[in-house]
Amino acid sequence: MPALDDHMVDKHGRRMRKLRISLLDACNLRCLYCMPERPVFMPQKDWASTKELTHITRNLVALGIEEIRLTGGEPLMRRDFLEIVDELSTLPIKKLGLTTNALLLAPYLPLLQHTKLQQLNISLDSLNTENFMRITRRDAFKTVMDAIFTAKTLGFAIKINTVIMKGVNDHELPAFVEWSAAHDIPVRFLEVMNIGVMRSQFQKRFLSAFDMKTMLAADYQFSRLNDKSDSTSRNFRVSNGAEIGFITSESNPFCTGCSRLRLTPKGQIRPCLFMEEGIDLKSLAPEDYPTALASIIAMKPTRRIPHQPQPMYQIGG
Ligand code: SAM
Ligand code: SF4
Repeated sequence: MPALDDHMVDKHGRRMRKLRISLLDACNLRCLYCMPERPVFMPQKDWASTKELTHITRNLVALGIEEIRLTGGEPLMRRDFLEIVDELSTLPIKKLGLTTNALLLAPYLPLLQHTKLQQLNISLDSLNTENFMRITRRDAFKTVMDAIFTAKTLGFAIKINTVIMKGVNDHELPAFVEWSAAHDIPVRFLEVMNIGVMRSQFQKRFLSAFDMKTMLAADYQFSRLNDKSDSTSRNFRVSNGAEIGFITSESNPFCTGCSRLRLTPKGQIRPCLFMEEGIDLKSLAPEDYPTALASIIAMKPTRRIPHQPQPMYQIGG
């Protein structure tokens, strides 16, 4: 049972254990469901510095954050990325992960081997060069695939994130299931979310996890794996040996088990991906963190907010 004065537990008993840090909004891909073709990014001077990020995360870890994931925009585009990872590696955390499009990943891999960052969630929405280019608007398929296999060879824990859109890449579902089995790499199919640029085409492109599974059911059997209570994906072992997950952000959101807080590139802590309210932690003294955190956690919704006008790349997926 949580202690009554525990600032990281809300009145519904949800303990905040995870922190997702968005390091910047800029990116070197332009995924259809995430970015407009010509996005306007915030000036670099607005990003929280390495020093500020270290100050913030150290205080949050002291209050109970156990797992940190770096995201963006594309986190590997920050020149101080390794410095940030080195600083975070000194903290007493259980996991340090990275969500990346892997375009710049390969040269970083040998350097990351000696840090706490061992969990890589790599976005890959197609197994086909042309379709990859259609979705990301960039010719980068081979670079990404090479980085995935190098990371696997070097022993990183990899998961692939695949956003499925009706009429765009849903026909590739079986190919991903085969690829997962062939390479022993888990693939998680994400329902496209009604957020930012997706809002105008959401109805046209949305495919539920239920429908994805139905499309696969003729050829595969699924056995449910044991997921943690705050897991965002529902995971399965498939009859061909693949490990597949479904992230049902729209059809069955995981708000009641949510253990996550978000830090924006400017150093503002937010209670939820779908909320724009937050508190700037950059200049907050350590003794003020418990009160600030308590007020952020009290704002956490228990039900999915229908849509978010701010695009995903600005908040960090
Ligand atoms: N650039 C990195 C990447 O793509 O992995 C990290 C940032 S990206 C915003 C984080 C995750 O959010 C990616 O897996 C991406 O596919 C997902 N994402 C972005 N927009 C989305 C949307 N509208 N619906 C579902 N997932 C989305
Ligand atoms: Fe960039 Fe990731 Fe958004 Fe794609 S999903 S545009 S890689 S931030």
